[in-house]
Amino acid sequence: MVHSRNWIGGEWIVPAAGECAVVNPSDTREEVGVLHLSDASHVAQAEQAARLAYASWSRLTGAARAEHLHRLAAALESRAAEIAQLASMEMGKPITEMRGEVMRGVNLLRYYAAEGVRVGGSVIPSSEPDVLQYSRKVPLGVAGIITPWNFPVAIPLWKIAPALICGNTVIWKPAESASLTATRLTEIFAEAGLPSGVVNLVVGKGSKIGDALLEQTALDAVSFTGSTATGMHVAEACAKRNIKYQTEMGGKNAAVVLGDADLEHTVPLIVSGAFRSAGQKCTATSRIIVESGIYDAFTEALTQAVSRLKLAPALDPQAYLGPVASANQYETVNSYVQLAWEHAEILAQGPAAAGDQEGYYIRPLVAAGLNAEHPLIQEEIFGPVAVVLEASDFAEAVALCNQTVYGLSASLFTRDLSYAHRFLDEARAGMVRVNQETAGVEYQAPFGGLKLSSSHTREQGQAALDFYTELKTCAVHY
Ligand code: NAP
Repeated sequence: MVHSRNWIGGEWIVPAAGECAVVNPSDTREEVGVLHLSDASHVAQAEQAARLAYASWSRLTGAARAEHLHRLAAALESRAAEIAQLASMEMGKPITEMRGEVMRGVNLLRYYAAEGVRVGGSVIPSSEPDVLQYSRKVPLGVAGIITPWNFPVAIPLWKIAPALICGNTVIWKPAESASLTATRLTEIFAEAGLPSGVVNLVVGKGSKIGDALLEQTALDAVSFTGSTATGMHVAEACAKRNIKYQTEMGGKNAAVVLGDADLEHTVPLIVSGAFRSAGQKCTATSRIIVESGIYDAFTEALTQAVSRLKLAPALDPQAYLGPVASANQYETVNSYVQLAWEHAEILAQGPAAAGDQEGYYIRPLVAAGLNAEHPLIQEEIFGPVAVVLEASDFAEAVALCNQTVYGLSASLFTRDLSYAHRFLDEARAGMVRVNQETAGVEYQAPFGGLKLSSSHTREQGQAALDFYTELKTCAVHY
């Protein structure tokens, strides 16, 4: 049994503002651990510790901070199997995917360690004689980091690593449904010798400590990933106090299949985009827009592929998809499944989970025959449900692709270079891809969306270094 704990100023604390059992979504009869809840007083302690640590951490050289990140990477790599297993048991992501996610975390730490020695500025010629004028990227201070449960290792690390390398200290509030994994990840930080107070973990309910973090502290930056509803609340709270923020939020991503698409290449990528992680990715393919000429051939191939998907407990190495993460997820996604059975034509349904386990399993579903305004087409489902729409030509397909309040990721499948480039121009999404699935953006490239998917800032790559620093303009007369 794993117990969540807070790590504040280098001390481990079991908060006592309540507790609840954490069950394995692959079999809810199994208790994985206990979540111990924090209150606003823990947030205040974390702020004090982060502020104290900032004084020395921000004065280290980039190279010295990079050494710490390299140590964290080595420690995480050596415990990759253990943390992948715990995360799979806590939130249901299949173990093969979870191992890949942990290695992505290791690589992210190494990438930002390498970038650390390059965070600089530039010399700007002065109009005055004997003046050296230059800009420097300086840390912001204490960053509040609020993360979701669907990438319980990679998302925290793609925020924490750039925050630290730039000289900031951190208060991290993970999602309730990923708090055991967060505790284990922080234990790895502690064992790797990260100085006290540089990262402070506070575990608990977003509605309580999330708001305490936003309203009762003097944070210098907030980086949030989660739903659009919570993200807009975070953005408003930060804007009121003029705190620098970024909010990465929901998606309703489309894959467009043109008449000349290579179906052998296209179908596996659409199936993967829609059903890996049980569709619980912000970049999941949830709308599939198919040109009329290839509609029958495509839906036939898709139906066959979906009928072969293996839905199984997360620790089964053969699982293509596992259960959804929690009772809440199960209820929400099932309400959309019910809507599909009531209003849509069901094109395909994957097999049920084999075995006698009692988990939050939802069979992959592909629906069609809905008008473009239907909630299944417009709302983020965040589960293994995809909808197919038919378009008469490229122009109609792009119009349908853009007919959403979200704008995270969009893909086109074609062999025509001209349509490929037109799609790259016309698709209204932060990440636009051709002959690639909607999910899977590399960590050295900017990640983020348009419209209600993002605060128009970007994560990952160089963009993260810009977010976690501000420019100071310096001038010296000599
Ligand atoms: P969520 O319910 O919005 O929660 C996200 C985080 O916010 C959690 O840590 C949550 O804590 C916290 N929170 C809740 N209420 C809060 C409040 N009043 N103040 C401050 N923090 C608060 O989202 P989720 O269900 O964890 O994640 C799924 C969503 O994330 C989907 O919409 C998905 O598209 C999105 N997502 C986006 C990206 C991206 O990069 N664009 C990546 C991954 C996921 P509790 O868990 O304790 O409630």
